[in-house]
Amino acid sequence: MEFMSDMLSGADSGKPSLFEIVAQHKMSDLIEPALRHVTSVYAHRYPRHLVRILNWHEEIYAAVMLVVERHYLRAYGGSFAEHFYGTKRVRTHKIRGDNGLTRGDVWGSLALLVGLPLVKGRLDQYYERISGGDAARLLGSSFAQAEQNEDPSPETATAAAGSDLYGLRRRLMSWRLSLKRMFKLCYPHANFMYHAATALYYIAYMFDRTDYNSPWLHMLGLQVRRLSAADYRAMNERGSATSDLAAPANGSPIRFARNMVAHLLTGGLDFLKVLLPLSIFFYRFLEWWHRSDFHKKAQMTPPPPPPMPLKPHPEGLSVPEDQTLCPICNEPRTNPAAAPSGYVYCYPCIFNHISDKHTCPVTLAAAHVNGIRKLYSDS
Ligand SMILES: [Zn+2]
Repeated sequence: MEFMSDMLSGADSGKPSLFEIVAQHKMSDLIEPALRHVTSVYAHRYPRHLVRILNWHEEIYAAVMLVVERHYLRAYGGSFAEHFYGTKRVRTHKIRGDNGLTRGDVWGSLALLVGLPLVKGRLDQYYERISGGDAARLLGSSFAQAEQNEDPSPETATAAAGSDLYGLRRRLMSWRLSLKRMFKLCYPHANFMYHAATALYYIAYMFDRTDYNSPWLHMLGLQVRRLSAADYRAMNERGSATSDLAAPANGSPIRFARNMVAHLLTGGLDFLKVLLPLSIFFYRFLEWWHRSDFHKKAQMTPPPPPPMPLKPHPEGLSVPEDQTLCPICNEPRTNPAAAPSGYVYCYPCIFNHISDKHTCPVTLAAAHVNGIRKLYSDS
């Protein structure tokens, strides 16, 4: 790995290898499904609150990641995944010297890190819907045609016949329909271009033809570079400076409280470095768990224990010591049959007794003739 990364990144030791870049992208792609999976697992258990979260998962996730990525970009100059792999973003003409990100760089990066995946996901979903999704792919596009051929003018003809409003509405509807058709036609090409451009940049990056690992970073003029020893030193100093701020020595209690909250918030966001990768491992574990046999074994409930036997009632008949005898006639049982209490008699004896007294003769528990069970083995 070391050899390959050195070989491919040439003499520039600050330039991360393609493997590191791909690993970073993979990691950011994994966090979202991991969190979604964890949420959906718990949504089964607590549907009242979590189902709503699940429906808005992408938006909520984007909002959370906006906060997280903004923190990492401002504090460490790189996205969460980039920082995790020990890299950061640097403006190309500032590689040497002071290379903090400007406000514009941060917001551009945020649009790229959070906005782009959200928009792309929505467009993918929309395309899937209007193209008929998997059904269209299997059954041909005739399945999706049905939706297209719907009449753009609903049954409002009587209400608005002849009026300008009706014509305007009709025209709007047909515009919408042709826009939809155009989107359906163009989107696969745009999607292809998107992926092709990403792949081309990967290849060019691998062969040192470009310093940008994606067309988007090229547009922003930002490169991803390895963190240097000076960066780590600066980070450590910053860390100790923030813990000094939280010390109660300077300022009023309000200022102290504000510093404390800021400190805790920063600490919490920094803790995500540990938490998010853990959530990926948790996701992988859940995936394995639900596929494995352990899961089925754990779900199998043990058979319920047998019911407690009813004790003979002191005023009832006593049970003969010889288990093959009938407690009613004290003869070897003929046609053995069990009362609902579980005690076994001759069938004619117990039938007559229960029809007459409606109780089991030994336990005096209430019984009905329908509850008598014939036994086919006398053991
Ligand atoms: Zn009997």
